[in-house]
Amino acid sequence: MRIQCPCCGERSLDEFTYYGDASVTRPNAFAPTAMSDYHAYVYQRDNRDGDHRELWYHAAGCHACLVVTRNVRSHIISDVRIAREVARERDAAALPGSTS
Ligand SMILES: [Zn+2]
Repeated sequence: MRIQCPCCGERSLDEFTYYGDASVTRPNAFAPTAMSDYHAYVYQRDNRDGDHRELWYHAAGCHACLVVTRNVRSHIISDVRIAREVARERDAAALPGSTS
């Protein structure tokens, strides 16, 4: 498998480290339901078929964290984006008055 890094171009999987599922959000540690929220966050994951968003770290390259959309059946990568930009867009969409 090869990953198209937005900074470095197409690189071998050997240069990257898998950081986990990019579709989950870390729970609030101070919420009254933190224990059950963390249990669900760590242990209760869906094993979906099709496209999956994953975090990858370009350890042997630019050191960017990437959100890679990969089909878990075919391993075809349909999108690679810088994780910081994805988080920035998500946070902007969550602001009050946002239209998305
Ligand atoms: Zn890179």
